[in-house]
Amino acid sequence: MERKRKQILYLVIPCYNEQEVLHETARRLREKMESLMEREMISRESRIMFVNDGSRDRTWEIIRELHESDPIYQGVKLSRNRGHQNALLGGLMTAKEYADMVISMDADLQDDIDVVDQFVEKYYEGCEIVYGVRSARKTDTFFKRFTAEGFYKLINFMGGEVVFNHADYRLMSRRALDELAKYKEVNLFLRGIVPMIGFQTGIVTYERHERFAGESKYPLKKMLALAVDGITSLSIKPIRAIVLLGMLIFLCSIAMLVYSLVQHFLGNTSIGWTSLIVSIWAIGGLQLLAIGVIGEYIGKIYLETKERPKYIIEEVLR
Ligand code: UDP
Ligand code: MG
Repeated sequence: MERKRKQILYLVIPCYNEQEVLHETARRLREKMESLMEREMISRESRIMFVNDGSRDRTWEIIRELHESDPIYQGVKLSRNRGHQNALLGGLMTAKEYADMVISMDADLQDDIDVVDQFVEKYYEGCEIVYGVRSARKTDTFFKRFTAEGFYKLINFMGGEVVFNHADYRLMSRRALDELAKYKEVNLFLRGIVPMIGFQTGIVTYERHERFAGESKYPLKKMLALAVDGITSLSIKPIRAIVLLGMLIFLCSIAMLVYSLVQHFLGNTSIGWTSLIVSIWAIGGLQLLAIGVIGEYIGKIYLETKERPKYIIEEVLR
């Protein structure tokens, strides 16, 4: 289904301590938006919305200055730092009230903004969601590439459904966002939830650049936390794995039982100290691991039952 053209596009950009990149990012994005407006691809009412995720530097002041200099810039201020996923969601939910389509991207413009044209084109062709997928990781260090690709493989292996090498660079129509708003969970892993929405989707590939200034706000520790959150919020495969492991150990224990009885009747009962010590440690360790995995899920249930808000908006500049 072809859509009518010149619709309203909002760019949503979560920012956490991004004072080094904001001016440059704002300039490049405005150029992009203006070129789209001139070619009549998007409406003149399209906007660039920065979400300040409780930054401790001058980020919010810069956003305010930008807003005062040109109304194309808008700002949403969260009451404190809530992390990338929540900041993004806060921005998306605010933008969907005014926009026909919303593109989310990072403040460092590592994701090539020239593919915005293709995103918008796909939207007019009828896509409700368009995923930006990285074609290569030439500029990433080996370590970043290895951990990042491992992240996607691990989540898929554990039963989550994510688009390989797609981060949070995507277009969503207002309709898709309205559906997203119905997912009430507190532990929201957007990359896993968005594919569940369905509808007609498209993919756009691009090359990822290096950060032009500032440093990554996603150290390995945060990435691991995101992976654990992703897996536990998308699948219960880890718990199933424990069940399987339990059965396996039970089978082993039957074999051990037969073995020890035979040894007993042969009169060799003093041997077996080694196997005893090994099994105590092995089974003990496995039990702790298993309790830990189940505990992860109980922790999730605990947090979900509280239904605490995912973010609180302190101020909106529009
Ligand atoms: N970010 C955020 N809150 C946080 C951490 C990061 O809003 O607590 C934003 C950050 O400002 C950036 C995006 O999330 O726009 C991605 O972060 P970054 O570029 O540092 O991650 P990387 O590209 O290295 O994975
Ligand atoms: Mg980045």
